[in-house]
Amino acid sequence: MTDARTLSRWLWRGYLHRHAAVIGVAVCLMAIEGGMLGLLSYMIKPMFDQIFIAGDRAAIGWVAGAVFGIFAIRAIAGFGQRVLMMGVGQRVSAALQSDMVAHMLRLDSAFFQANAPGVLIERVRGDTLAASTIWAVVFSALGRDTVALLSLLAVAISIDPIWTLIAVAGAPVLMGPMVLLQRWVRRSTRRARNIAAGLATRLDETFHGIDTIKLNTIEAREGARYADAVDGFVDAQVRSEAGQAGIPAMMDIVAGIGFFGVLSYGGLQIIEGSKTVGEFMSFFTAMALVFEPLRRIGNVSGAWQAALASLERLHLIFDEQPTITSPDLPAPPLANPHQADVVLQDVAFAYGDLPVLHGASFTARAGQTTALVGASGAGKSTVFRVLTRLADPQSGHIRIGGTDVAAFTLPDLRALFSVVTQDAQLFDETVRENVVLDRDDARLTDVLDAAHVADFLPKLARGLDTRAGPRGSGLSGGQRQRVAIARALLRDTPILLLDEATSALDAQSEAVVQDALDRLAKGRTTLVIAHRLATIRQADKIVVMDQGRVVDEGTHDALIARGGLYADLYRLQFADESRLGSAE
Ligand code: ADP
Repeated sequence: MTDARTLSRWLWRGYLHRHAAVIGVAVCLMAIEGGMLGLLSYMIKPMFDQIFIAGDRAAIGWVAGAVFGIFAIRAIAGFGQRVLMMGVGQRVSAALQSDMVAHMLRLDSAFFQANAPGVLIERVRGDTLAASTIWAVVFSALGRDTVALLSLLAVAISIDPIWTLIAVAGAPVLMGPMVLLQRWVRRSTRRARNIAAGLATRLDETFHGIDTIKLNTIEAREGARYADAVDGFVDAQVRSEAGQAGIPAMMDIVAGIGFFGVLSYGGLQIIEGSKTVGEFMSFFTAMALVFEPLRRIGNVSGAWQAALASLERLHLIFDEQPTITSPDLPAPPLANPHQADVVLQDVAFAYGDLPVLHGASFTARAGQTTALVGASGAGKSTVFRVLTRLADPQSGHIRIGGTDVAAFTLPDLRALFSVVTQDAQLFDETVRENVVLDRDDARLTDVLDAAHVADFLPKLARGLDTRAGPRGSGLSGGQRQRVAIARALLRDTPILLLDEATSALDAQSEAVVQDALDRLAKGRTTLVIAHRLATIRQADKIVVMDQGRVVDEGTHDALIARGGLYADLYRLQFADESRLGSAE
């Protein structure tokens, strides 16, 4: 757990510092706003003694004018400081969010596997807001409420120090319970925000998996699960807010005790005439007004504890550092990437404790097509991940054109690859934006033709400007694939990685997509993972993987002739297909 001082220093230096001037002006305005309360209570004395009791008509004018002036100044100062602080809060929140997103984009893919999207969304949205708006509360407490408190106490003391002492005598008793309560608030708020992040994850999964939910008719189950989770949230949130509400409640008790004491002691003095009614009223007004700022200052610590919980989580994410980064002294980009062989040598990789690659070795020759085959879970996709450095292997070497992949800068390395996977990841942007991303679009028309995107554009409502929907859900599987292929064509990289690119398609789409892929693969070093072995018979080399190892390699004919695992897999599929074929 990071301590409060480190957290607030981090927020101040990183974010609030640059708004110091505005905050300074706002705090001055707050001080003026707070000081007006003291003045107001001070004006009660002449109001009673000179006007109501002595009947001095001449005093009406200046006392009324002064009271109006006090309220007018308070209004202007209060308005000004609120607008200024709100602006600072929003700007800080925006800067925190942007920095956070920029930071998270640099983190390893593993981070995103360990942290569900919903949790991260809640961090970026909820926690940044909580962390940045607390400052308005803290500064108003410091600026307005302490000045109000001090000026009111000054008025009270000037009237009678003993009365003042009696009035605030109960306060020290509360210190102990207050500290305990604050700890409780921090704990329950942290729990509430954790549950809130879990809720966001549930919603994210529910909405993404809506079709699966409907098809399995588990709407009721999902609804009930959400209701349960939300109940848990309500419970934690109510605890947190009850704790926060407990602080002002305690202060009210202190106030009650104070009034009781002063009235019992001071009432007699007025009756005896040693104090004027004006003094008594002025004192009472000051004391009545003192508890409001005092209550707010008390509240601050509760709100501050709550915000600390958010700050702490933000800080944890900012502390997270990527392990997959560009080297300090990077190798220059390859001079002839089209002539670069891709070589894996004894590569071992594990997801946490789960070993996935055990010393995998093979070479994919430049300009040729190399197919990876093997049972599901053999580690084929993982080979693509370590090649592109979405993950780094624990040992072994991966070289492209003789240079270790980790020696390139990440942008240089990733500029070597285009990846087309079985579920093409499109963004909720237009088809054009999905193809172009941040590239130059000069070759767009050619690319759309070659990838057979042009074939279906007329069927879309707004052609190239049709939005693809969240994750491309507005397009069919085959259309998504073709958009992804067009994207890869435009990237025009020397190496192509195809991960079961056609396995999710029907025969007709598959033929079109296969044609687009063939055009894409031309002249490139291609690594292809295919479940349907028929599609890779033509590959220059087939690498057979089993349980994280390369167990065989060669051409289709050679492997069949050898009669190993590949021949078994092939026979199995062939038998399946002919059985399916005869059943049709
Ligand atoms: P293939 O592509 O050959 O089907 P993969 O490379 O996708 O195999 O996966 C190999 C193994 O790694 C599988 O047992 C799979 O369960 C595991 N695996 C894949 N991704 C992850 C992950 N993000 N976290 C933990 N294990 C994973």
